[in-house]
Amino acid sequence: MECVFCRIVNGELPSDTLYQDDEVMAFRDINPLAPTHVLIIPRRHITSLADLAEKETSIIGRMAGVANKLARQEGVAEKGYRLVVSSGEEGGQVVPHLHMHLLGGRRLSDRLC
Ligand code: AMP
Ligand code: ZN
Repeated sequence: MECVFCRIVNGELPSDTLYQDDEVMAFRDINPLAPTHVLIIPRRHITSLADLAEKETSIIGRMAGVANKLARQEGVAEKGYRLVVSSGEEGGQVVPHLHMHLLGGRRLSDRLC
């Protein structure tokens, strides 16, 4: 198994895990870009948003719900935060396992990219 996030799901690689259930897992980004930087992933390997089948789109709602809960837990919900999902090379996706970034705890750039 080469996928780094699948290895985290399987417990082969350590992570600072904040949440897990039967479908979703969340852990702190190893290279945080903001005081709160959490990655929310499906436990099942899905390469990217572009690879998500129509019948699987509910997983994005599950991930957003977990992000919302963790934003409150991290104390950033009131001041604000950003969720980012990059898809594919030009989208800037580096790890080929679908993930959502939760960024908060500082004023983020007004520019989206
Ligand atoms: P992206 O550029 O959207 O593919 O984001 C991938 C993110 O995964 C980056 O922010 C990395 O810092 C993060 N990352 C890579 N390996 C690990 C790891 N082992 N544990 C936690 N975060 C990781
Ligand atoms: Zn994977």
